[in-house]
Amino acid sequence: MKIILIGIQGAGKSTQGNLLSENLKIPYLSTGHIFREMAKEKTPLGRYIKEIMNAGYLIPDEKTVEIVSEYLKKPEYKKGYILDGFPRTLEQVKMFENGVDKVVYLKVSDREALWRLSYRNGDSREDETLTAIRKRIELFHELTEPVLDYYKQNGILVEIDGEKSIEEIHKEIMEQIKS
Ligand code: AMP
Repeated sequence: MKIILIGIQGAGKSTQGNLLSENLKIPYLSTGHIFREMAKEKTPLGRYIKEIMNAGYLIPDEKTVEIVSEYLKKPEYKKGYILDGFPRTLEQVKMFENGVDKVVYLKVSDREALWRLSYRNGDSREDETLTAIRKRIELFHELTEPVLDYYKQNGILVEIDGEKSIEEIHKEIMEQIKS
């Protein structure tokens, strides 16, 4: 099964992605994680990605699709995957040829997400400045909401209230992706 997780930063995508991965025995993959790893490389591409990420902007569509498609060619993703953070624009949707079974939208308000991110303890990341987070949320409304409309029209969008407890959300996703 190929599942896409969509939601603003702080919506709980990685928490729910990992739970789903465990439960369904399907690998979890986050494009944010892939790009953070690439940003550590001391190469022109690594520095370029780091600069874009730290400002909260998106990596250009063509580059993103190229990298994600290359990753998904690995044998472990043959039977399916839980993809967090991609596609984020309609252009990416159009260029992506791997197929999608269900799209789970974890819906939380901007306010709730900002609150959660400012109280997230411990491992705050280099690309998690308030300016970058606000930019990411702004770009979500501008570029990713049309992606949600697209999948809604296709009849594969599952909308989940992301402000409930972790367990309740997981249960609801499990119920809805079966139907
Ligand atoms: P995330 O952890 O999903 O918030 O991603 C962190 C950063 O990685 C984003 O702010 C973007 O710079 C980059 N990124 C992740 N996924 C994508 C994507 N699908 N398209 C473009 N940039 C992305």
